[in-house]
Amino acid sequence: MNPDKFLTVKQKTKGAASDQMNSTAGALPQGRNALIGLGSNINPESNLVKAKDLLAQWPGIHPMAFSRLYRTKAWGKTDQDDFLNAVIKLETRLEPLELLGALQQIENMLGRERLEKWGPRTIDLDILDYGGLVLQTDRLVLPHPLLHQRAFVLVPLLGVDPDWRHPISGLPARELLAGLPPEEMEPVEQPDLWD
Ligand code: ADP
Ligand code: MG
Repeated sequence: MNPDKFLTVKQKTKGAASDQMNSTAGALPQGRNALIGLGSNINPESNLVKAKDLLAQWPGIHPMAFSRLYRTKAWGKTDQDDFLNAVIKLETRLEPLELLGALQQIENMLGRERLEKWGPRTIDLDILDYGGLVLQTDRLVLPHPLLHQRAFVLVPLLGVDPDWRHPISGLPARELLAGLPPEEMEPVEQPDLWD
């Protein structure tokens, strides 16, 4: 897949000259950087904005950058509504499992039900990367095991962290993306309350 296709579209889209950066004032001392993948296909704009607000209010979590939102075709189980996907870069004082716990609480607060694998969801919050840590436990695998196969993750990830490299292979996100088959996805108009 050609990443330039997306970068060109991105640059042409209103308000997308660069992904939005928050002020770093108040950043957490000795925080770790983490990348969070967000996805929803039930009231997706509203749920992504709510998840972002809850993350920003969570003790020990400080969002640093928000990607654009991308409309993507459902993956794995294709007979369902399109998804909106985004990536948020944050700084956090939470340990990896604490961060996962926070994300799962936010998923529950937004009414996430785990009915079927890859089925429709109000919100999915995944830790894509936590400070380059490589970890494999029953509850948490880092980096996220499928991120290098998914353009709908890599494209928004590049928006918030253009120099990111996969912690295991060392390959830059841009190169991983270039090796993927084309996926149907497009940036959407920024919702007012997104960043
Ligand atoms: P998926 O995200 O694969 O569609 P779920 O959101 O239902 O599915 O997550 C299933 C399980 O994946 C969670 O209970 C969680 O413990 C586990 N998991 C492992 N690694 C991660 C990670 N990096 N980020 C989020 N969840 C993870
Ligand atoms: Mg998940």
